[in-house]
Amino acid sequence: MMNYDLLVPARTVFGWGRLDELGALARTQGTKAFVISGSRQFAVNGTLRRIDELLAAAGVESVQVGSIHHEPCIDDVDEMTISIRRQLTAESLVIGIGGGAALDLAKAVSATAANPHLDSVKDALEGVGKGLTLEQPPLPVLAVPTTSGTGSEATKNAVISSSPGDDQPFKKSLRADLMVPKAVLIDPELSVSVPADVTARTGMDAITQLIESWISCRAKPVTSALARHGLELAIPMIERAVEDGSDREAREAMAHAAYLSGICLANAGLGMAHGVAPALGILLGVPHGLACAVMLPAAIAANCQVRKTEIAKVGRLFSGDRDLSDTEAAAGCADLVRALNERLGLPSGLSVLGLTAALIPAVVKGSRGNSMNGNPRPIENDELTAILESML
Ligand SMILES: [Zn+2]
Repeated sequence: MMNYDLLVPARTVFGWGRLDELGALARTQGTKAFVISGSRQFAVNGTLRRIDELLAAAGVESVQVGSIHHEPCIDDVDEMTISIRRQLTAESLVIGIGGGAALDLAKAVSATAANPHLDSVKDALEGVGKGLTLEQPPLPVLAVPTTSGTGSEATKNAVISSSPGDDQPFKKSLRADLMVPKAVLIDPELSVSVPADVTARTGMDAITQLIESWISCRAKPVTSALARHGLELAIPMIERAVEDGSDREAREAMAHAAYLSGICLANAGLGMAHGVAPALGILLGVPHGLACAVMLPAAIAANCQVRKTEIAKVGRLFSGDRDLSDTEAAAGCADLVRALNERLGLPSGLSVLGLTAALIPAVVKGSRGNSMNGNPRPIENDELTAILESML
């Protein structure tokens, strides 16, 4: 048996309607909660008020420190860090409720607020900062995901972009083992109000994460088992979740698959689709999940030979035909993902997203991050250029 390490949240509470347990769960982590939310809906539909009430009933003071409606940038983290440092107590925790943006912001702020030697989160970002590391453990984070996508509730990194107007825009991770949230509350009922287009692209993000971590060169038996299970849940259910947001069975399946995808990516890495996605985000403003969905067929095709067995299993899940041979199932997999994207209303090419031939060198340059290193075989610049050109 191979040696491996596995990092997972210490406690996960999963189930429909279990937001009711938020107060008690928060109380296990502290007595003062800084709440970061990621949806305007939560103020309108009373969710934020309900969170305050649940926390108060459990004896936890709550401070709403802000909401975020875009992928977090350095200024977002730094401003919120200053605010939290001023109000910090010995028993503080951070609650992030929302999609990947809110959870990543909560995780980043929990780390920077507890580490006053960081003047800015940029000081500790991979590849762009001063190379500083966390000296103190982050404040405990309670993650409450609502969009069934990024799996950020189970990962050890937070993706942070350069602030608007930066000469050299980037999207980089703040990463540390201690950044895995201490507690996770997944109530799929919270995803009922997520619009269809967001459900489609965040769901495809989760599916991409499950596939890429399964075929990653850093895959390990436990993550591969979870990835396969996650795909068995998500692939038959994503269309139902998009067509009817109130479909409980579909929402539960997608929420669970997204959580598993986070465990998988944190422990097994990703691959080509996630390598390219940040560059499409930086250069063209493409939302993360949409970039992953569009890149997934190409990533499958590029790795079809070196991961034939795994991709054949994925292909059988997409086709619903268990009798296909490995060769047939693996060869047909990328086209089945393209067809699914089309049914979900997602584009198949990169031109629609604004990519031009002139921008391809910049995309290739921006794709050399941690994710690309997990791809099961090296994809050199020439090959990646040809792949992107074929998708115009
Ligand atoms: Zn992703």
